[in-house]
Amino acid sequence: MKTPNSIKGSTDAVGSRGTGRSGNRSGGGNSAYPGPMRDLIEQLAKLPGIGTRSAERLAFHVLKSDESSAMALASAIAAVKQSLGHCGSCFNLSDGDLCPICEDPERDRSRVLVVEQPKDLIALEQTGMYRGLYHVLMGRLSPLDGVGPGDLTIGQLVDRINTSHSSGDTHSIVEVVLGLNPTVEGDGTALYLSSQLSGLGIEVSRLARGLPTGGALEYANKAVLADAILGRQIME
Ligand code: ZN
Repeated sequence: MKTPNSIKGSTDAVGSRGTGRSGNRSGGGNSAYPGPMRDLIEQLAKLPGIGTRSAERLAFHVLKSDESSAMALASAIAAVKQSLGHCGSCFNLSDGDLCPICEDPERDRSRVLVVEQPKDLIALEQTGMYRGLYHVLMGRLSPLDGVGPGDLTIGQLVDRINTSHSSGDTHSIVEVVLGLNPTVEGDGTALYLSSQLSGLGIEVSRLARGLPTGGALEYANKAVLADAILGRQIME
């Protein structure tokens, strides 16, 4: 990119005023900003889907907003990192030992829907069509990326099923629904899971195939997801 001489001249003029900071930084389109503003833009621009332009717009929005809103944003970000972990039972996101779904006495504890990530759980939950519990695998089998069964929460799922069976009828798991993404890796994971779960005395089903192959649960619309839950099919 060429910089017209007139603009170059004015940049030099600003630099020569001697704020001492970054006047001569090379390549930084943000060098005209004071340090804190530049830092904010740089951090925002790291977010997915946010380019430098959007980051600048957001930073100006934060700058213009009143202090309490800006601080609420900052503390919400801090809280997500400091107080959010994973549910001790299903691995959903949680700010306590158990997530709100596992703690809800109204949920049907005999059914567990297995998903790859918390965001898949949220997409399915938003359909309002499922009243059972979930289990988040924290990924899917991907041999090429070195992700094996030990990297997922498959062992914990098996333990959960066995524990439910030994703890009495009311909390006994009778069905596991596989809700993996309709991709090659998701299918491979579903196949592996169904073999691991056979012989545990439960029914293993999977979401109906209304979902486009290669797509992702999180982007499917609610009606499609609701149909997939209602039309789930028993494996084998
Ligand atoms: Zn949970």
